[in-house]
Amino acid sequence: MVAAFAALAAADALFFLEGRPFLPVLAAWFGADALGLIIVTPIMLALDRSGIRALATGPRPMATLLLILLPAAAALVTCAGENDGLAFLAFPPLMLAAWRLPAAGTALALILTAIVTVGMAAAGTGPFVVESARDPAAFAWITPPQVAQLYLACIAVSGFAATAGRQQINRLRRAVAARAARLRDSELRTRVLAESSSDIILRIGIDGLPRYISPAVTEMLGWSVAEVMGSDWRALIHPDDQREVRRMLGQAGREAASVGFRYRRRHKNGSYVWVETRTRARKDPATGAVLEYIANIRDVTAQKAAEEALAEAHARLAQLATTDGLTSLPNRRSFDSALAGEWQRARRELIPVSLLMIDVDCFKKFNDHFGHLAGDDCLRAVADAIRGAVHRAWDTVARFGGEEFAVLLPATDSMGAMHIAEAMRRAVRARELLHPESPNGIVTVSIGVATEDTEHYATAEALIAAADAALYAAKSAGRDRVMVAPASAPLVQIGAVPPGTAHQLVPTRA
Ligand code: GH3
Ligand code: MG
Ligand code: MG
Repeated sequence: MVAAFAALAAADALFFLEGRPFLPVLAAWFGADALGLIIVTPIMLALDRSGIRALATGPRPMATLLLILLPAAAALVTCAGENDGLAFLAFPPLMLAAWRLPAAGTALALILTAIVTVGMAAAGTGPFVVESARDPAAFAWITPPQVAQLYLACIAVSGFAATAGRQQINRLRRAVAARAARLRDSELRTRVLAESSSDIILRIGIDGLPRYISPAVTEMLGWSVAEVMGSDWRALIHPDDQREVRRMLGQAGREAASVGFRYRRRHKNGSYVWVETRTRARKDPATGAVLEYIANIRDVTAQKAAEEALAEAHARLAQLATTDGLTSLPNRRSFDSALAGEWQRARRELIPVSLLMIDVDCFKKFNDHFGHLAGDDCLRAVADAIRGAVHRAWDTVARFGGEEFAVLLPATDSMGAMHIAEAMRRAVRARELLHPESPNGIVTVSIGVATEDTEHYATAEALIAAADAALYAAKSAGRDRVMVAPASAPLVQIGAVPPGTAHQLVPTRA
């Protein structure tokens, strides 16, 4: 716009004042102005004060100066030589300056080149002058300084384009370097975190080969990082846990969140270490296929041992709560719950259940004679004898209290219970535990038997009462015998044995 107005004014003036042709003057003036603007505008923009200062204080000032002077020197050689073949000799050094120097440097190089080129052209020397002399027809509408300007405009545009390109590349380079530095920094922080943790941090491919493992593996499992990196991580899982680990990895593959599980992993020393892992699958966002697993692995051996000790203590406590301390038989509480269960079952399934109440004969006198500690030993021996007389796992021989024992015989009818009771009576006798205060001279027991098989008794307590009544009857009848309380018949007595005679098992009706 500015060039057009200037050209119009000049062409008008020259047309009216000097009678010069209007249109050629207008074209020449417009071209010269436009070219001048093309050259001067970027130079002015580039030559701000901070640009010059940066140039002066930048690195390698001698090289900078050389780069600035070189295009002008080339232009000087071109013009002095008066050889039009060298017209573009200034172009390569100017491009070099544009590439290596900041915009202010390019601007200075251009100014110097312009001064030399246009000055020489105006002074009537240089390749453009030579060329105009050789071909005057072609130079009818343009003067050598204008050609020189055109030439300068071309190299100015190219030079500043090169500088802009170089600056853009530098900006990109700096951005890439900054991003790489940030990444390195973040990776370093992650690595420091992973490597200072006492947990193992593991990245593992679906082929089982670790891609990264933190050094905690050495302290926890004895293997060096290099040893682990080269081998299949799955190989050292305890054989009994392989299935569970596969199942949990499958679950991790299906879920977005991490899954936790425990398994045993072999230590380098051959032992197994209980570990707890939280594992997450990293998946391909497009296909959802598992790419790798990321696991955090913690040694829980101590925790596992504590849990096992606790479970053991619980079991021991439960056993203590249900076991009699003196005889190691189930205690009264245990007997009560067994009876309640068997009572329900007998009612539900219409099967018989028998109960034996056993009492040591004249035990007070035994204690009086031998003392309490010997009495305890005697109770243990009696418990041992009667326990030895039952062979089915579901029979319960319990200490009912004091010198009394109770035996619960599920799915056993009256006759069966009578046989077992008699076997127990004989078993105690067979121990031949000396009892000078007893009529038999040895420790004996009396046993009351009651059986529920015809819905005779309303409750389990009624069954106990019946067995107790039979026991009382056995005591009354002279001890060392078995008395059966049939559901609807009078008491039946077996095994009434006079001291020193052979035992018999002959049920006799009273
Ligand atoms: P009976 O033939 O009528 O059963 O006479 P008994 O003396 O056995 O019966 P009694 O009920 O009079 O006495 C039972 C004795 O058992 C009294 C008690 O000192 C003794 N006793 C109970 N529990 C224990 C125990 O745990 N250890 C010892 N050493 N004696 C016990
Ligand atoms: Mg008693
Ligand atoms: Mg007694």
